[in-house]
Amino acid sequence: MSDAPNALLQHYLVQLISRGVTHVPLNENAKQVLGISGLALQVAKASPSLAAPASSKSARLAALAAQAEKSSECRTLGTLHDTMVFAIGSPDAEIMFIGEAPGAEEERQREPFVGPAGELLTKIIQAMGLTRAGVYISNICKFRPIVDDGRSQGSRNRPPTKPEMNACLPFIKEEIGIIQPRVIVALGATAAAGLGIEGSVSRIRGNFLDFNGTPILVTYHPSYLLRCEINEDKGIKEKRLVWEDMLKVMEYLGLPISAKQRAYFSKAGA
Ligand code: URA
Repeated sequence: MSDAPNALLQHYLVQLISRGVTHVPLNENAKQVLGISGLALQVAKASPSLAAPASSKSARLAALAAQAEKSSECRTLGTLHDTMVFAIGSPDAEIMFIGEAPGAEEERQREPFVGPAGELLTKIIQAMGLTRAGVYISNICKFRPIVDDGRSQGSRNRPPTKPEMNACLPFIKEEIGIIQPRVIVALGATAAAGLGIEGSVSRIRGNFLDFNGTPILVTYHPSYLLRCEINEDKGIKEKRLVWEDMLKVMEYLGLPISAKQRAYFSKAGA
């Protein structure tokens, strides 16, 4: 590569590394822009600052993603798809969102929360005044669970089982250790149970709990909110509860909260 990549490209490459990607295929146009002639860009060599010291958060996440990719604990279960979907976001994030497992769209794009539930999560993050790139988004289970009912799975997804989450648990624990978020948001009862916090979301949401010394707040999974939309009243009610939880997270982190943000889903406004 002739010149140092710009900040955007650099950020993109760091994201790829943290997802375990090692090579990116290039078309003719990309080769010209980057000033290289090979067929693929080896991402860790793309810039001196990406060949980060082994102790940097990005490097540690990349190593962890590579480990997860090979995980025999996950692969020998035989109940998970082959493609690993690791995580996305900033290694320096203060908030870490943890979901269940990738679905069909996540598997296709190799990025967590990019399907319909992901679009809603992205809207929630933006409503908080944040971006996907500024938070960290991961799943307990790094592989899409197989639906084995004799029919082709197609786009059907299912939540991960306890053994599936347990097999991946060391990775999410290690990610938390590397990111050191100030707050974890567990999305749904399955993700919470995978982290050892049992109970229905209606019972355990709304208060900070503890996950090995990090405050954790459990809230409804965006897929559940989408399912609730069928009933307009219930849809609004559950979205309001999630928003109350997010306001708690923002207050805890000392993020600015505007009057408009406070009023989203306020009982008077809804
Ligand atoms: N649901 C999840 O829990 N995780 C994803 O990545 C997508 C949907």
